[in-house]
Amino acid sequence: MDGSIFLRWSVSRLPLYPHQNMSRLPVSSSKRVLLASSSSSDNGQDVEPAQKKIRKDPEPVKPQAAATIIGGRRLPAAATRAPISRPVRGVGAATVAVGPSRGVLKQSIASTAAKGGNAKPTAAPACPKTGVVGGSKRQPWDLKGKVVDMEGKIRNYQTKVKATSQENEELKGTMAQSQSRAAEMERTVARQKRQISEYEAELQALSGVRDELEMVSSDKSTLEKELSNLESKHKVMETLRDSQETELQTLKMKLSVQESTLARLQLTLRDTEEEVSSLKDTVVQQKDELHAGEMERRRLHNAIQELKGNIRVFCRVRPLVEGGLSKHIQLAAGDNTTITLAKTEESHTGKSADTQKNYNFNFDRVFGPQSLQQEVFEEISLLVQSALDGYNVCCFAYGQTGSGKTYTMEGDECDESRGVIPRAVKQIFRAAEKLAAQGWEFTFTASFVEIYNESLRDLLYSGKASKRPEHEIRKSSSNEVTITNLTYERVCNEDQVLGLIMLANQNRSTAQTAQNDRSSRSHSVFQLDIEGVNVGRDVKCKSTLCLVDLAGSERMLKSQSQGERFKEMTAINGSLSNLGIVITALANKESYVPYRNSKLTYLLQGCLGGNSKTLMFVNDCVIGTASANRK
Ligand code: ADP
Ligand code: MG
Repeated sequence: MDGSIFLRWSVSRLPLYPHQNMSRLPVSSSKRVLLASSSSSDNGQDVEPAQKKIRKDPEPVKPQAAATIIGGRRLPAAATRAPISRPVRGVGAATVAVGPSRGVLKQSIASTAAKGGNAKPTAAPACPKTGVVGGSKRQPWDLKGKVVDMEGKIRNYQTKVKATSQENEELKGTMAQSQSRAAEMERTVARQKRQISEYEAELQALSGVRDELEMVSSDKSTLEKELSNLESKHKVMETLRDSQETELQTLKMKLSVQESTLARLQLTLRDTEEEVSSLKDTVVQQKDELHAGEMERRRLHNAIQELKGNIRVFCRVRPLVEGGLSKHIQLAAGDNTTITLAKTEESHTGKSADTQKNYNFNFDRVFGPQSLQQEVFEEISLLVQSALDGYNVCCFAYGQTGSGKTYTMEGDECDESRGVIPRAVKQIFRAAEKLAAQGWEFTFTASFVEIYNESLRDLLYSGKASKRPEHEIRKSSSNEVTITNLTYERVCNEDQVLGLIMLANQNRSTAQTAQNDRSSRSHSVFQLDIEGVNVGRDVKCKSTLCLVDLAGSERMLKSQSQGERFKEMTAINGSLSNLGIVITALANKESYVPYRNSKLTYLLQGCLGGNSKTLMFVNDCVIGTASANRK
């Protein structure tokens, strides 16, 4: 064992006293002292010089003092007086016993001391009061004693060194053990670290698994919800299916019932189809019969009309303004073809009283003042039917101004007092509708023309007055008479015709002045061209219905008429007389009929004569005032 370890160890265990400074105890010097003393013990001669040396050098004294301190106890007087040959051990033992060591060391030292032999433990003082400092010092001269002390001390130290090195060995062993244990533990730690890292990795893996597990569980809950939804839907569907199955059953039953019904109906249908086909044949047959009947009716109707006379003259007497019949007119009760005009004739001589003369007239029909427009039209309607059957019809209203010509032809606006023109048109349109069922298609064209002073004027003209065109009567190769530049209006209902009548009246009123009632001095001719086609039967018909409101037939003395009036009068008289001549010629079936003598007859030539029907309304009013004029 090296001295430095020993010293370090011992110094650290030495009790420090305030008056001591152990650090200042150089071992070398003490050694030197010890060596010196030991050598001196062998050679007494050297003691002196040694003493001298010590004295000379104050420093070496200190270890002596230190040895005293460490020894800790003043030697008893006996000891001091003991012979030098006595073993020092006993003293040393005593000194050791009072050493400042503690703990394990204390015991070991004590035991070592005990082993040392002679020294009695009881003899060892508990704590030296340091015979060095406080006790009686060895006398300066007691060098031997001092050496003994020192040797004791050395032995003591050696013992200590031994114990310490032993202990050190033990500690080394322990340390090696500890190191091996530490290595073991390090390995264990490393192993455990590895294990921990393994665990951590595992834990990490497990946390992934946990996340996955969480996802799976959330998926599971979603799927569970979905499942429950689907289950409820399934239940609903099941209920629905059940109800539909029930319905299906019901429908199947119904179907079977209906199938049997269908079979029955099919049988019936077959029967019915046969019946229908036979009925169709019947219908075709009946249509043929109907058509034949229609043609027969037309023929017979025409025969009747011809028997009645293709030229007919009706007389219509208008009521007085205050109502009732003029006293000059007598209508025979029960006879609607005769009219008697009574005329009071003054006596030419003045001697006899005035005589009353009766003039009887016969007509195809006489209408009294109470006759309604409807009654009058009923007679004409037969001729209107003829017009639809394809015969030309011409109806005149003749009479003096105010006798009711316009009233008869046009009438008033109210339904009941409508005249011949609107009623005829209405009848024609209705009849055309009915005939459409038999395959007839009709087109109607209307025109309204005025003949004034032997010139033509379009009453349906709606352009500027300044641009009013001139008109001429033209006759085609097929003997059709047309007027140039005239308005021919296509009509298909009654209202359109009423509109045309209104337009004609407007045109007429613009032409007349207050002083000159032009309407009474002109003929107005309404013409409706009728064209019918029965495509299926390849039958056509074409006719014209003419309704003429003639100019006033009142006569005026030539001397009383001048200028424009004279011209008017001449024109009216000319055309009316020519109409009379034409009708007479037709009635007498003369070979020559002077149509060209007046514009009126020339225009109407197609509607007069042949198988045309002509009706003349002789409108009459009181004319008895003529006698008064002669006064
Ligand atoms: P004309 O056209 O012959 O000159 P109108 O037809 O204009 O005569 O008749 C003159 C007036 O006499 C008109 O106010 C008309 O309403 C009336 N009138 C004519 N005939 C009848 C009749 N049968 N019933 C009632 N009023 C009539
Ligand atoms: Mg008139």
